[in-house]
Amino acid sequence: MNPNTSRRQFLTAAAAVTAAAATGINPVLAADRKPVVVVWAEGTAPKKVYPNEINGAIAEALKTDLDGWEVVVANLKDGEQGLADELLNRCDVLIWWGHQKHGEVKDALVGKIVKRVKEDGMGFISLHSSHFAKPNLKLMGTRCSWGAYLGDSVKLNIRVKDSSHPIAKGVSDFTIDHHERYSDPYAVPKADSVVFDGVATMADGKTDTSQIGFAWKVGNGKFFYFQAGHETDPVFADANIRKIMANAVRWAAPSK
Ligand code: ZN
Repeated sequence: MNPNTSRRQFLTAAAAVTAAAATGINPVLAADRKPVVVVWAEGTAPKKVYPNEINGAIAEALKTDLDGWEVVVANLKDGEQGLADELLNRCDVLIWWGHQKHGEVKDALVGKIVKRVKEDGMGFISLHSSHFAKPNLKLMGTRCSWGAYLGDSVKLNIRVKDSSHPIAKGVSDFTIDHHERYSDPYAVPKADSVVFDGVATMADGKTDTSQIGFAWKVGNGKFFYFQAGHETDPVFADANIRKIMANAVRWAAPSK
């Protein structure tokens, strides 16, 4: 073999390995590995509603509904708070459900998540009370508070507002039992799309309309927030919500 050719090949290969190492992606597996979605939860959902936690329910749905994906469950109580570098660095989309334990999530981990989204293009999906989760706050850069939080609703009619958006694909207006409403306004940057809104109905028949599903581009990554998902309602077993979750994962995945 021509020594110059061989040296050039070696340098090219070495450069590829160095570049892959810098992104944390295994150069051997990067070409043909399955995309990875990690479903994270803090572990506080009631067992009678979610025997395997909210992330377990979402993961079970995604394993059925997402062809060709690796679905991983991660928990706050796990080592490295569920997101060791090895996993976070190969995660394409991170789904987050938290409520009571936002403060326990380490700032160093939050910094890594934000970097993976903004710089590397990892997708981030934030659910319900995760609007106050540290990664949600950092990625939005605003207060992320809702106008009101009231546990007086009995059902929620979710309406498709942007039917051209990939997250709405195959979804029509539908109604779920849902007993906690968040009222507009939501203190976040203007969304690229409000994909869904919803009409909450109270026991006395009064209604409250608020925004439900928001899509943004944050740095190089895509971010979806979904308001429904209170832990005492089995929302993530609903076929329509499952479809929205699978669509959101496909949409949020970084383009190759
Ligand atoms: Zn709630």
